[in-house]
Amino acid sequence: MSAGSRYSELLTSRTREESLLRVPRKFSEHEMQAHWFAGDFGREFTATDGRRVSVVQFGVWNREAGPDFVEAAVAIDGAEPVRGCIELDTDVRDWERHGHAENPAFESAVLHVFTERGGSEFFTRTRAHRLVPQVLLDVSSLTDEPPNPQPEAKPGRCVAPLRELPEEKVREVLLGAAEHRLKRKAAALARLGEIHGADDALYQALATTLGYKSNKLPFTLLAQRLPLKLLRGAKAGADALIFGVAGFLPTREFPPESREYLRGMWSGWWAQRAEFERLTVPADLWKLGGQRPLNHPQRRLAALAQIVRHWTKIRALRQRCDPAGITDFFATLSDEFWDFHYTLTSKASAKRMALVGETRVTEMLANVFYPLAFAEDSSRWLGFKNLPATLSNRRVEIAALRLFGPDSARAASLLRSAAIQQGLLQIYEDFCQHDASDCIRCRFPEQLAKW
Ligand code: SF4
Repeated sequence: MSAGSRYSELLTSRTREESLLRVPRKFSEHEMQAHWFAGDFGREFTATDGRRVSVVQFGVWNREAGPDFVEAAVAIDGAEPVRGCIELDTDVRDWERHGHAENPAFESAVLHVFTERGGSEFFTRTRAHRLVPQVLLDVSSLTDEPPNPQPEAKPGRCVAPLRELPEEKVREVLLGAAEHRLKRKAAALARLGEIHGADDALYQALATTLGYKSNKLPFTLLAQRLPLKLLRGAKAGADALIFGVAGFLPTREFPPESREYLRGMWSGWWAQRAEFERLTVPADLWKLGGQRPLNHPQRRLAALAQIVRHWTKIRALRQRCDPAGITDFFATLSDEFWDFHYTLTSKASAKRMALVGETRVTEMLANVFYPLAFAEDSSRWLGFKNLPATLSNRRVEIAALRLFGPDSARAASLLRSAAIQQGLLQIYEDFCQHDASDCIRCRFPEQLAKW
């Protein structure tokens, strides 16, 4: 049995007892839509009336007023797929509350998806009184929402047993967790590829990685709403559509510093604004503060535009999955404006800045390039295992403190590997974030002894 499979087995009994109170997190409608479109709920469902529902095509985000997704196709009870639109609401009653039942734009609805059913039975009907199949999504299937998302940054109960284990054993456990993580990511990306095609899966996954932790949702929505093919053929240029749909080109009052750059982009966006405005990412989804200026989301959007521009090269890099080639490509990415600006309106910096830094490239390797390569060929695990880490991040540091204690020389040596960092994060998510007992009920220390 591989170390990855042994680690998966550990997860079957991760705490001694479940905590009594579990309050599921509420997802916003935007989060639900992003998960739905990514296929995170799957594509086979049972309708509220018991019929089998297969989503044959998820369609595209709707650019016009009306349902959320158009050009979708749904098969009921194995019959021929029916093409039409799909509406996703938080509450089934939103269909009436928002006037969809009287709106002709919803006449072609083939599915009404929602996450809350309310007290009494509710039928989804169109203006012509046609019943629309309903699917109630199981939000708990989406994620094993941890009861303790931010465990305290302090040494945990497994510091002592980990210290007792020989370093080779510790490495094996961490690599087992890393392999388990890689397999899960590979499966998620393979599913995304099945739904949206290999190119869009790669592009969407790179966009999500560029969103860092705090802007994953707006980056994912943006990439879903502006498919790769559309951007590559955009007359206005990919930059104008990306920044326009991101909602960062609301005015033509440009500061003198950025006037030339912004004017070009703004006129490209202006020409297509009416067509794409409805797809604009809501401003409140962006988290613009609290991060290093170098990591401002506008710089990441510029990197996404460069990725689109160099797509043929990106596709070739994905096929080879050669870390040196991928690192070189991103190191040489250059943009006349963004090489010297933190934001669209900031003053120019005297020093050139890399558009995508080394740490982000390692994240892309760990979260996108290697999982995609592993989905096709499991021997790619060996390459991933040997990938060196760049810098660590705050989550890795907290996880290291909990498992190894402060200033651990062993942790410092192990964490030079990107795979070990990923394994440590997996243990942190699987055990520390699922423990609400201050380590008392966590089984990880005992399971270590049996490894
Ligand atoms: S919760 Fe479990 S894995 Fe995390 S530090 Fe405590 S004992 Fe270790």
